Amino acid sequence: MAKMACACGTILRDDDPEASLFLLSSREFDVDLGAVQLLGMARLVLHCPVCGRVWIYWRDGERATEYVPSGQVSEGASPG
Ligand SMILES: [Zn+2]
Repeated sequence: MAKMACACGTILRDDDPEASLFLLSSREFDVDLGAVQLLGMARLVLHCPVCGRVWIYWRDGERATEYVPSGQVSEGASPG
């Protein structure tokens, strides 16, 4: 299980059904494969419901790459 603190301070977990997403390229998405195989190939993506950031684990064992919604500063969620 992956658990990390978003830059805004929110704790994100990969077992949170709302926050965890799976990323597959069109090439990887083979409809003949089973769900277990597809999930095994997919990259884990965590979406922060507070600030909207997306964190993508491009490679197993490496840190997630941060993606910040356009127009938002990287220091955290908007004040107030
Ligand atoms: Zn956040």
